[in-house]
Amino acid sequence: MRATVFHAPGDVRVERVPDPKILKPTDAVVRVTHACICGSDLWFYRGDSKWEAGWRTGHEWMGTVEDVGAEVRTLKKGDRVIAPFAYSDGTCEFCKKSVQTSCVEGGYWGGADDDGGQGEAVRAPLADGSLVKVPDAVKDDEAMLMRLLALTDVMGTGHHAALAAGVKKGATAAVVGDGAVGLCGVLAAKRLGAERIILFGRHATRIAIAKTFGATDVVSERGEEAIAKALEMTGGGPECVLECVGSESSMEMATSIARPGGAVGYVGVPMGSLKGLNLRRMFSENIALRGGVAPVRAYIPELLNDVIAGKLDPSPVFDMTVDLDGVPGGYAAMDDRTAIKVMVKP
Ligand SMILES: [Zn+2]
Repeated sequence: MRATVFHAPGDVRVERVPDPKILKPTDAVVRVTHACICGSDLWFYRGDSKWEAGWRTGHEWMGTVEDVGAEVRTLKKGDRVIAPFAYSDGTCEFCKKSVQTSCVEGGYWGGADDDGGQGEAVRAPLADGSLVKVPDAVKDDEAMLMRLLALTDVMGTGHHAALAAGVKKGATAAVVGDGAVGLCGVLAAKRLGAERIILFGRHATRIAIAKTFGATDVVSERGEEAIAKALEMTGGGPECVLECVGSESSMEMATSIARPGGAVGYVGVPMGSLKGLNLRRMFSENIALRGGVAPVRAYIPELLNDVIAGKLDPSPVFDMTVDLDGVPGGYAAMDDRTAIKVMVKP
């Protein structure tokens, strides 16, 4: 089969690789029909995080089951499935606590040992615990599938940030980050009943999408000016802040505007955010910091129901579609921010 392989920062290529096959009785082999390129893929693409030549790429994918191992109980050949960005057994202590990303048997797609989602097919370990079946009624509905694709990562991650920030009905929430995760954070805050949703961003297209997702205000200033504006427009800060980038400046922003007694829900992969923590203010104002890598497997069932019921549509974050040969170009487009999020149709 063909799949995307990392060679060096700025250099990913589509190459021939071995076909996936059942290795363990709990495996499934899935033909990928939809995948994505993610903002967090850009960390290794830019050389900011460790990734080695020859490693596979892609952690967001959906597809059709082609084969299952002898111990797989919930899936059969022909089923359409959604894969969360980490696989998990669904039975261990952490899976039972809905922290599937800490599963004792789990792991992440791509890398040295696992197939990545930016390819033609994937061997999916722990298929019963990991993969979620898409109801047959919508399995060929392309528009619906595009909405469901966001549940593999960005919509679940945005939801995790909103939950961790304590968003409830009537809340005021601020979202730091206008990438796909930030935009899904706006949608998640709206879904949880936030009344006022403030987006920090300057990009006209992204702001327009955020407004359709429920954003009521936009702060386009930077640094101290943005902090002052946010504190002024909310009379002392929003009680819920979603940090959706992982950079020093985004964490500084988030922990500098949260209302006394409020919370910051952080989901951005920490790439400098530690330095941005305004711990002194968090201490003096009792501001909580919650979050982490999002256990999206825990959220897929409820989010899937809302998508199918027509109550949730994150698909506007996909503003570019490529086939497998277009993946290197897709990385470049996300890297220079000309694309918010790229959908891959292998
Ligand atoms: Zn587990």
